[in-house]
Amino acid sequence: MLIGGQWVTATDTRPVLDPGTGGHIAVVPEAGAADTDAAVAAARRSFDEGSWHRLPADQRARVLWRMAELIDKRSDELALIEARNQGGPHRGLRNHMIPETARVFRYYAGWADKVAGRAIELRRGSDEFHAYTLRRPVGVVGLITPWNSPLMMAAWKVAPALAAGCSCVLKPAELTPLTSLLLGEIAQEAGVPDGVLNVVTGDGAVVGARLAEHADVDKVAFTGSTSVGRAIVSAAMGNLKKVSLELGGKSPVIVFDDADVDEAIAGASAAIFSNAGQVCTAGSRLIVHERLYDRIVAGAAERARELNVGYSFDPRSEMGPVISDEQRQTILGYVESGVSEGATLLAGGEGFGPGFFVQPTVLGDARPDMRAVREEIFGPVVTAMRFQTVDEAISMAHDTTYGLAASVWTKNVKTAHQVASRLRVGRIGLNIHGLPDVTMPTGGFKESGWGRELGPDGLDLFLETSSVFTKLT
Ligand code: NAD
Repeated sequence: MLIGGQWVTATDTRPVLDPGTGGHIAVVPEAGAADTDAAVAAARRSFDEGSWHRLPADQRARVLWRMAELIDKRSDELALIEARNQGGPHRGLRNHMIPETARVFRYYAGWADKVAGRAIELRRGSDEFHAYTLRRPVGVVGLITPWNSPLMMAAWKVAPALAAGCSCVLKPAELTPLTSLLLGEIAQEAGVPDGVLNVVTGDGAVVGARLAEHADVDKVAFTGSTSVGRAIVSAAMGNLKKVSLELGGKSPVIVFDDADVDEAIAGASAAIFSNAGQVCTAGSRLIVHERLYDRIVAGAAERARELNVGYSFDPRSEMGPVISDEQRQTILGYVESGVSEGATLLAGGEGFGPGFFVQPTVLGDARPDMRAVREEIFGPVVTAMRFQTVDEAISMAHDTTYGLAASVWTKNVKTAHQVASRLRVGRIGLNIHGLPDVTMPTGGFKESGWGRELGPDGLDLFLETSSVFTKLT
């Protein structure tokens, strides 16, 4: 682990698995509360000394840019390790995910010297006051990430936090710590001062919970499940630290009767089967106009049967395993519950090995009250339902405690934008399900979270505002 610029071990260790084989690939330190305290103390020291946030902003920008260059330079190694630890197809990680991660650092390198307050003409017309605002880093931040896209999730937090001038303790998910440790190496090599980025591996209930309650942590930025999000909010109450949350979803894919059928089938399938459905914005509820229902659902089931599910390093693999055996059992449990509550199994529904694979699964004739429709499955399982009117489609889309994403499939530009303006979700795709892009804010309404990451909003999460008044007369 990286604490205060030193690579250290912990008393305990934890094995790390390849979900594509179930085999051990690494051993990492399992931090305890004392290790977490040491990391927070190192971050606090670096913040109080100002070794990072008091550097001229263009120098911070240059360091972030260097991190992007090092990510590109080490992209083969990063893609290899991410593929073995997370299980996604190696080709996609190498050609898309790692370059996009570098782009996140470049984007926030660009922001580092553009953070600015405002001059305010207080009592305009009189010369009594001069007033302005300053944008200051929030301080020491705990960054807690999930296992579904480990390096990218770390980048979404580390890059804006560093651009804002914060000192960080990064805690990756216990199942996928490897590329976050490499990010620590990259930060050191790029010139991030000691103690400004600490990386601590360990259990959520120990390290994560300690960061959430710690009096010396000024903010926690968390991505993960809604239930852990709630635990973080209560733990944060002690010192009322700031909290931003990117939580779960149950995102609808709404297909109108004038949609391009082939595009909608391809889009709906990609929305749920990408990354084996382990995507917070996964299109897990397919809501189709009754006139197109049979064609769209049959098409999605056919695509599910045709999809090449395989090991990350098999070049034919289009979908990898899920992260763990436990996650596989949870997913298959949802399929079983859907079928027992009356849904029709149209494709998939089985697990297989070696490794933790689940077949892409389509459940037809679903109803809004089914558990598989209400709860986030976080696997390659889509439930399909019919609607007749626009109002009915929107009320079905809203019939969830989540509000993360949605897509709307129609050739009618008026329908598309009207529905977009009525949907209470954080990200809306029109004839596309998802395009996470570093320039566009992302996050959720309702129980999908607090705040928006990425874009300028992502930087705001790590800044506080001070108002400065000067009396001139
Ligand atoms: P999780 O909530 O189990 O774990 C996330 C992180 O929180 C891990 O690092 C874990 O160790 C830590 N943690 C666990 N218990 C904790 C506690 N008591 N206090 C502090 N930290 C604790 O989530 P997961 O299973 O790793 O990831 C899947 C979930 O993440 C899904 O619900 C998914 O929707 C969500 N997710 C959301 C987004 C988004 O942007 N909205 C993106 C990816 C994943």
